[in-house]
Amino acid sequence: MPIQPLIDAATAALTMAETKPPFSPQEARIEASRCLFCFDAPCIMACPTGIDVPTFIRKITTDNLTGAARTILEANVLGASCARVCPTQMLCEGACVMLDLEKDPIQIGRLQRHATDHVAAHGIDVLHAAHTKNGRRIAILGAGPAGLGCAAELARLGYSVTVYDKQPAGGGLNTYGIAYYKMRPQVSLDEVRMIERLGVEFRYGVEVGRDLQVADLDRDHDAIFIGIGLGGANRLGIPGEDLPEVVDALDFIEWIHTRPLDQVPVGRRVAVLGCGNTAIDAVTQAKRLGAEQATIIYRRGAAEMSAYPFEYELAKTDGATFLFDATPVEVVAKDGHVAALTLAKTAVHEGRVSVVPGSEWTEPFDLVLKAVGQEKQIGLLGRLFPGLKIDSRGRVEHDPTTMQTSLPKVFVGGDAASGGREVVNAVAEGKKAARGIHASLTATATIGPVQPSRFGMPDGAVGSGFDHPIRVHELEAALTQG
Ligand code: SF4
Repeated sequence: MPIQPLIDAATAALTMAETKPPFSPQEARIEASRCLFCFDAPCIMACPTGIDVPTFIRKITTDNLTGAARTILEANVLGASCARVCPTQMLCEGACVMLDLEKDPIQIGRLQRHATDHVAAHGIDVLHAAHTKNGRRIAILGAGPAGLGCAAELARLGYSVTVYDKQPAGGGLNTYGIAYYKMRPQVSLDEVRMIERLGVEFRYGVEVGRDLQVADLDRDHDAIFIGIGLGGANRLGIPGEDLPEVVDALDFIEWIHTRPLDQVPVGRRVAVLGCGNTAIDAVTQAKRLGAEQATIIYRRGAAEMSAYPFEYELAKTDGATFLFDATPVEVVAKDGHVAALTLAKTAVHEGRVSVVPGSEWTEPFDLVLKAVGQEKQIGLLGRLFPGLKIDSRGRVEHDPTTMQTSLPKVFVGGDAASGGREVVNAVAEGKKAARGIHASLTATATIGPVQPSRFGMPDGAVGSGFDHPIRVHELEAALTQG
């Protein structure tokens, strides 16, 4: 049977409600006042974009929400979405000194949301483009977090920036691939609009290599930033994989973001293959959209899953079930649709997973979601950029300080550089690349650390792997002239 939507709109509104609701003004003030405003604050160092956490929290205590948002967004232009999707327990909140005092960490993510929601709700722009353009043009491939982080920083430095994306809207994973109960796509779309107001031009529905040639971009621009994401889910390589109800988990999440919730088809018995954070997002949303059973199937043990522990606990709370040390060996069809999975036990020997002979059994499923990792875009990048060096793991080789690739005019960040990390890492890399581009195009290289300069850095200059000293104050002056 083809899969169908299972719940009505009213039920979906309840089950897909945000898991972390916003603070009230009073709650925010009380939480902010718990902060110790640490010197050398470890929460700053734990943030890949180096948000000055104690400074923005202090501003919240005095009701200066616009100032708090400015502190956040100057460091991380996607501060609103990162407030919702960052694994804060593993980053800023995980580093909070309150934990050493055996107290709950400051809820930095929710405070960050409180401040950034304020400026979004009141239409206040706290970031500004440079007063004058410097005459340089930069092309950015991909309107995801890395591309947006790069675009905003370049616009603030006076560059004319054009972002190309094949999707009809910007935001990348933030718009199309985050669990709905964590963040609404509108938050991401609002961030894109904020960057548009910095003067960045977005061209959607454009696939580079098909609609636009890299040679043309090269001719018309002073630098190119590669911010494209990963490809589709990896192939399973088992019979029945091409049946219509075998779907990429990210495509399933995209259905949720692009259709009314009561029109999203869901299986009654859903199998999710893999055990990373995308798998968790998929399995929890399937449950919340009415699946009677949603099971994660993972070929290794619980100790080896890549999902964060708090995500695992959330999935169990939502009623998801877990089948460890098992793998599908065939998708079984009935009348051209998925009817079951044939599964087998697995064993791990010297790090390698193998199927235990004779251990197969069959369980009924009507939707199979693949969350087994995404393909690297090695072929695409090789075709677009002949000579671009790509390492054995499919990542574009680059200078870690400037994000410059083996092609001097081409810079990279996000999935293409890292192979896939958190949204906040992609923003940080985009920002770092913007500074690398700026350094490469200006006579006096001016680049600052993506992490803050006020702690642990020599005053005014940092060594960076560049051939020349890097003057932080020059970059900061350029960024604040707008
Ligand atoms: Fe505040 Fe915790 Fe950061 Fe210290 S570590 S400044 S207490 S949020």
